[in-house]
Amino acid sequence: MNSSVIDFIATEARFGAHNYAPIGVVLSRGEGVWVWDTEGNRYLDCLSAYSAVSQGHCHPKILAAMVEQAHRLTLTSRAFHNDQLALFYEEIAALTGSHKVLPMNSGAEAVESAIKSVRKWGYEVKGVPDGQAEIIVCANNFHGRTLGIVGFSTDPETHGHFGPFAPGFKIIPFGDAAALEQAITPNTVAFLVEPIQGEAGVVIPPAGYFTKVRELCTANNVMLVLDEIQTGLGRTGKLLAEQHEGIEADVTLLGKALSGGFYPVSAVLSNNDVLGTLRPGQHGSTFGGNPLACAVARAAMRVLVEEGMIENAARQGARFLEGLKDIRANTIREVRGRGLMLAVELHPEAGRARRYCEALQGKGILAKDTHEQTIRIAPPLVITSDQVDWALERLATTLTQDFS
Ligand SMILES: *Cc1c(COP(=O)(O)O)cnc(C)c1O
Repeated sequence: MNSSVIDFIATEARFGAHNYAPIGVVLSRGEGVWVWDTEGNRYLDCLSAYSAVSQGHCHPKILAAMVEQAHRLTLTSRAFHNDQLALFYEEIAALTGSHKVLPMNSGAEAVESAIKSVRKWGYEVKGVPDGQAEIIVCANNFHGRTLGIVGFSTDPETHGHFGPFAPGFKIIPFGDAAALEQAITPNTVAFLVEPIQGEAGVVIPPAGYFTKVRELCTANNVMLVLDEIQTGLGRTGKLLAEQHEGIEADVTLLGKALSGGFYPVSAVLSNNDVLGTLRPGQHGSTFGGNPLACAVARAAMRVLVEEGMIENAARQGARFLEGLKDIRANTIREVRGRGLMLAVELHPEAGRARRYCEALQGKGILAKDTHEQTIRIAPPLVITSDQVDWALERLATTLTQDFS
């Protein structure tokens, strides 16, 4: 390491809150699937900023849209109309088949906004007695870091010493439709769930789960809220992960790749009157729906479709998964994935996933461990077959190494 690298890391450590434990690399440039550190070393990005950079780093068309809009108008607040918001609404509704859109910034804000909206719907449309609305969520969920959200996390690291928390949430196991059926009461307004639990280690529910979930929600007049902030916009090889089971959520949450990584942009989408319950003054955000965000998101959605990134995610994801399955290493307990949302779970005796990620860094691949034993692999959706094979070679040599 040269001195400039040590400076960046040491300075961060000295002044910054220590709420992250980054891999020891300082990045200064990105293009497509590649990023470069301050010393000029090149890495294949297998995290994509937790799927926010699905369109590839610094996509030229998103960059051009951002720069062009930044020259014209960046922020008006929603006190006035702007000439980008209507076009953003029209294009995201056309893309996803939604009728109503609420623009926000971070993913967590979209989740919070959905919680507020489904509660309001519960009181004003479903007829739940005031203050009694229940929302069902899953164990090992990840929906963001705000106080409202961490209150129903089951991870002690996430909620420990941050309470007291808001009531009104019921936690059931993920992938268990019978548990959902039992948990629903007349006061249940929504079931909030990730199609695939990303942060929990890319946990894919059993086939047929979401078909049954959809039936139960419909039968009981419960809003199905799918958090597609990580799985959405092509990551799993379809535009939305719900399409793998041919279902439709009542409320869909998007974020991350909605801006291609240029800017925080999120959205709550609904197919019925959930968002219709919000009246002027009841919810808002200074930056939500600003013209710069809208212009960036419009370009990010456009390139995703026009450049065939969703189809590529399906094709390269299948190739990547097959390649991972072919690696014969007794460090591997299981490989799983859908599209380009992949994970390698290590045997407990293999040592911590973090050490493998550090070894991968030495071979030109940046990946991130999650939950001690799992290496998550989620490259930008523009990855080519040659790049997949290049990554697989390096993963194979690393995973056959013994660090224990
Ligand atoms: C990342 C993520 C969030 C939170 O998004 P932020 O932009 O970090 O607030 C919520 N839900 C899921 C499934 C996520 O992956």
